[in-house]
Amino acid sequence: MVRRFSFRTLILSVLLMLAPLPKAQSDLELIFGRGDTGKEIEMGRQVYDQMKKSGLLSRNTAMVQRTERIFSQLVACLPQKLYPYQVVVVASSEINANCLPGGYVTVFEGLLTAMPEDDELAFVLAHEIGHAARRHTMSLFKKLQTDYVIAMVMGGQQGSSYLTGAFLSHSREHETEADRFGTELYLRAGFDAKVVSRAMQVLADEGDKRGQRVPEYQSTHPDPRRRVKEIEKTAATLLERGLKPISVTAPDLSIQAVFGKIPTLSSEAVSWFPLDAGMQWSYRVKRDGATSQYSVRVVGVSLVDGSSVARLETSLPSSKISSQWIADKDRVWRRGRLNSPDSPWAVELIIPRDNATEKLGTKEFQSLGYEDVETPAGKFANCLKMRVRGEGTPSVICWYASGTGLVKRVQEGTGTEELLVSLRRPN
Ligand SMILES: [Zn+2]
Repeated sequence: MVRRFSFRTLILSVLLMLAPLPKAQSDLELIFGRGDTGKEIEMGRQVYDQMKKSGLLSRNTAMVQRTERIFSQLVACLPQKLYPYQVVVVASSEINANCLPGGYVTVFEGLLTAMPEDDELAFVLAHEIGHAARRHTMSLFKKLQTDYVIAMVMGGQQGSSYLTGAFLSHSREHETEADRFGTELYLRAGFDAKVVSRAMQVLADEGDKRGQRVPEYQSTHPDPRRRVKEIEKTAATLLERGLKPISVTAPDLSIQAVFGKIPTLSSEAVSWFPLDAGMQWSYRVKRDGATSQYSVRVVGVSLVDGSSVARLETSLPSSKISSQWIADKDRVWRRGRLNSPDSPWAVELIIPRDNATEKLGTKEFQSLGYEDVETPAGKFANCLKMRVRGEGTPSVICWYASGTGLVKRVQEGTGTEELLVSLRRPN
């Protein structure tokens, strides 16, 4: 069970971790300045990672799939995409939704239950996308930092209640703007114009029933019923002006459609080939006196049918390559084309047993024992040494360190050498 304020506490702690008490105005500008969305996206991603680590993400697959389906239908209708929009379902019975920096929209399980109709949920998501698209979140977080300074000055209980009151409450103008934006996006994405204000109605009823405010949606508006009227008025005006829905079909987000058929694996971690989200390896390549560098990052890991599918991004000096990987027992599987769910999975690597040679088609993986390896990233003891031979490619000798992965690779014949320069682990 998730404690009531853990979501808030978490966001605050990440916010403060990212941006300790600003000493000068320039610190704020560094984070929120000049139309650069990169830092906001990074901030949102860190909050997301923390939420994941704290067990705040919903495990209700049906809820997550429903939310993602509606969310992607809305995002598909945005004329301009400022962020790589993502939606996160929070495991909490609170009836709430928020917009984090970087286009991360959060919606709570409680709200999904209170809104069984897709049209209702679509409006809430469209409203939150509106906060992101209009960059309200950015100014809100900026205000929060100032609030934090005020709370620190006030101190104790007084300070903490001030902070809770200030938390994630958008200004009235921002709410009106997000309602307008949300209404238009809702209609463009083809949701039912007749029930455009129903979500707000539900929130108003919930508030009455509980005798308390539903966070976010009623925190700043004196009369949610008036908000219902305004939304209906906005929709009528837009339709009168001839707004037509953009024809989009929600993409099929079933596991098969996204990941294709994945190998049936037990998903036992391979210590020689760890694939944790956030890991990043950088390698230096030397060949004929020339040096270059590349890095490999685990962008994310999804649990699909019991297997951990990792998405890796390889950054070369001039391009990026994406691929998906699964490490299981003594095997590592890979596939390249992410866009087609039909692209096949192939075994990329087999960790041979001691003194043995494993064969797969024309590929051979030969165990050469264990060695200590010195790299710019440090010294690694007892690395697994193996030779990989394949048809038409020069054979390579690889060294893998337990818990770290590939630390060194040398191409036989050409002498091309790759060495681990740095390894960044998720915090
Ligand atoms: Zn709002």
